[in-house]
Amino acid sequence: MSAHVVASRWPAVRVPDLTVPDFLLRMADERPDAPAVIDAPSGRTLTYAELRRDVRRCAIGLRRRGLRVGDVLAIVAPNSPEWLVACLGAMAAGGCVSGINPLYTADEIAPQLRDHGARHVLTIPPFLPLVRAAAAGVVEPDVLVVGQAEGATSFADVLADGADGELPAGLVDPAADLALLPYSSGTTGLAKGVMLTHRAIVTNIEQMQTALDQTAEDRAIAVAPFFHAVGLNVVAGVTLRSGGTLVTLPRFDVDAYLGAIATYRATLAVVVPPIVLAMARHPAVDRHDLSSLRLVGCGAAPLGADLQQECAARVGCPVGQGYGMTEAVAAITLVDTAEPVVPGSAGVLLPGVEARIVDIMTGEDLPAGETGELRVRGPQLMAGYLGNLDATAATIDADGWLHTGDLARFDTDGNLFVDDRLKELVKVKGLQVAPAELEAVLRTHPGVADAAVIPVPDERAGERPKAVVVAAGPVTAAEIVDHVASRVAPHKRITEVAFVDAIPVSPSGKILRRLLVAQDRAGALPA
Ligand code: AMP
Repeated sequence: MSAHVVASRWPAVRVPDLTVPDFLLRMADERPDAPAVIDAPSGRTLTYAELRRDVRRCAIGLRRRGLRVGDVLAIVAPNSPEWLVACLGAMAAGGCVSGINPLYTADEIAPQLRDHGARHVLTIPPFLPLVRAAAAGVVEPDVLVVGQAEGATSFADVLADGADGELPAGLVDPAADLALLPYSSGTTGLAKGVMLTHRAIVTNIEQMQTALDQTAEDRAIAVAPFFHAVGLNVVAGVTLRSGGTLVTLPRFDVDAYLGAIATYRATLAVVVPPIVLAMARHPAVDRHDLSSLRLVGCGAAPLGADLQQECAARVGCPVGQGYGMTEAVAAITLVDTAEPVVPGSAGVLLPGVEARIVDIMTGEDLPAGETGELRVRGPQLMAGYLGNLDATAATIDADGWLHTGDLARFDTDGNLFVDDRLKELVKVKGLQVAPAELEAVLRTHPGVADAAVIPVPDERAGERPKAVVVAAGPVTAAEIVDHVASRVAPHKRITEVAFVDAIPVSPSGKILRRLLVAQDRAGALPA
């Protein structure tokens, strides 16, 4: 073994041989009447006993509608208690859940539906036309809605239908069966389905709990979306596992978010950097009582030490960071809440996780203090990308090391610092934007001969995608911006365009994005 493998400070966790729903609903025995999930806008509450009852009804109801082990339920909806009931219910029936950003366009949703062939889709009435447009000619799913809508089955009817009946014993094999199929572009190309077993998810939740030490007294606001690892696995997973209360918010609005913290006396705020910025600087912070918070946790994108400390001073509790990837369920490192926060660090390796920092030129392992590509190995890694052995092999090597595509270093105490990104990825408000996808959209414009997309810093969003374009004729930056804006979700919109004579490529034809990023940072790309 190399001399520079970094190990976790904790021993490996014991992982119960349970499905995700059985694992998360254990508290229904101990604390049946405790509030499990609250819908913040309405105050509607599900106790642990009610949540377990509804999950079971959902599982039986979905089986009656034909869902079988391995079938996919896609969820196109904002956060709500029903999102979790449907998610855990489908998992209990052996299904695999794929959350989709409801702000996606039909053209962005369709490839995902085609890829996994969802047999069932859950949405809410306002998004029904979107789901229908995305599915048209692609799949013919059983469409369920939370609420009432013409031509779709009400989710409440699915639950009512499942009120009696039994689930066959031993339906799901936690070690082998998939529970979640989120989408991630990984280090290159388009979004791919990330296959996560029940075992991997339960493992990561236990690993995160070691660092976060949540209790049944904790209350967390679920504002990070459930279609992303931070919302579903970090916030919902660890909170339900520990018997705490989860308060769901459908979208981020500063006042609604801070108001929910004050109303529900939230103890944990697990957020992305733009929300840390709001908590540090927004005038609304003075209008709300945030004294119940014991920890603000931030992840999914870089957060500078200065802003981290500014937020901690304003809110009056520690602000800690975590680093992770969808390909590792959620977290790889987290702040150790038993220790003082190390500003600027993304935390320490979770139990059972090993890491190496590899020199990108020589492939040699680097010692503490030096920056290279972070590679990690651990029990929570994905089973692979759906139907894509090549991308899987390029991401997890033969020895089990996940190549993160991030440039990072450890200090001698095992604190991780993420310095930069090697891979093709733009992170906007913590959400992924795959350059390859936007480049394909750009090339559909008749005035664009060639295009590359790179990240540029943005104070509020962290980063934004910038287009570097070779024009095929007379075309303006505004036309290009509009062309993209009408075809993608709001967070993927291009905000800047640079016109160049040629896109630099390697001898094998790959776009040299890092060269473009370096030119842009040096101010050498024309506006
Ligand atoms: P996702 O799969 O959407 O969670 O995106 C994973 C990527 O987000 C990582 O590979 C990093 O590039 C970035 N990321 C996540 N957490 C952090 C962090 N704490 N600091 C810097 N980048 C991060």
